[in-house]
Amino acid sequence: MTIQCDLVINNVRIASMQNNGEAYGLLLQTSIAIKDGKVLAIFDPSQDSYHSTHRVDGENKWLLPGFVDCHTHLVYGGNRANEFEQRLQGKSYAEIAQQGGGILGTVLATRQASEQSLLASAIKRATRLLEEGVTCIEVKSGYGLDMDTEIKMLKVAKQIAEYLPVTIETTYLGAHTVPEEFRSNPDDYVQFVCEQVIPIVAQQKLAGCVDVFCESIGFSYEQCRKIFSAAQNHQLHIKAHVEQLSDLKGAKLAAQFQALSVDHIEYLDPQDISAIKQAGSVAVLLPGAFYYLNETQKPPIAELRAHGVPMAIATDLNPGSSPVASLLTVMNMASVLFGLTPEEVLYGVTVHAAQALGLENKGQIKPGLDADLCLWDIEHPAELVYGINQHRPDAKWFAGKACKSI
Ligand SMILES: [Zn+2]
Repeated sequence: MTIQCDLVINNVRIASMQNNGEAYGLLLQTSIAIKDGKVLAIFDPSQDSYHSTHRVDGENKWLLPGFVDCHTHLVYGGNRANEFEQRLQGKSYAEIAQQGGGILGTVLATRQASEQSLLASAIKRATRLLEEGVTCIEVKSGYGLDMDTEIKMLKVAKQIAEYLPVTIETTYLGAHTVPEEFRSNPDDYVQFVCEQVIPIVAQQKLAGCVDVFCESIGFSYEQCRKIFSAAQNHQLHIKAHVEQLSDLKGAKLAAQFQALSVDHIEYLDPQDISAIKQAGSVAVLLPGAFYYLNETQKPPIAELRAHGVPMAIATDLNPGSSPVASLLTVMNMASVLFGLTPEEVLYGVTVHAAQALGLENKGQIKPGLDADLCLWDIEHPAELVYGINQHRPDAKWFAGKACKSI
């Protein structure tokens, strides 16, 4: 009996990224059948009972799941090259933020930008990520802060998927910084976020998650707690920028709300890790921001590892602290700067990154899951982490369809 399918790829080494006891989830079978955008079967060529008019010879190259960039801010107006110069003349990120620069500079540019120009620049940045094997991107709002611009950003983010072969997951980050108009009363802004914006975001399905920047230059523990409560009341998932510059106990708070992820965590107190583990939250590491800000405090990797907390890696692509549109580069940084093994890094941009977005259908090669796949001409998966700017996928499929140029 032959089984009809849409595509068969033969002669590949499959790093499935499943937890099957093998390094990189290696599978012995070397053929894969795809139907209706999903992996139908992984099989040995001697057992081939699949019929398809599309057959690809993988030439013994490695097949990996498409990468998931689970933390970006890639929709924004303007850029911050001028602040880059200021920082090199000695000003700190916190100083620039206090003087109305930093995020607020981007807020102004994003409010002024047309939907069309925001989309055009976002597509350009997303394309850079896709060229390196990314098939799913999380995009946060947070450079509008007012109702209209936040909605504009989230809509633009969703539109990227109409132009490029990628899944876009959106997150409402109203609590990124306090906007100018609420400077004298930040609590009023938190009330606006909780009572006015979050209900609309939920109602119009503009985002599946709510995020905060829990920091002295962002929002306090108590303000974040209110925002998490509002998000939970509207059935939205929680993510959080926590312990990036200091320890405000934001990760522990987020864990109380079963956050999908706690992100940055350079200043995380190792004593708070068991709460993160119990909540099932993913620790999202952002070495691009660590590198860019010349940070020296590293996340407590050894303790996270000892507790078995899943670790994900993302670009944090944003105009201020991580203008890095390259997941492969950041993967190398995660090993060189944070000491993750190449295998940990690859789990961190596949299955753990998908988990940080609450996506169970991505990040692994497994029957029934999305057929987002990349074929790499490498001898071993560790090569993708070891080198910088050495590799691009030889072939790529998004939802089972071959991507022509990216
Ligand atoms: Zn971020």
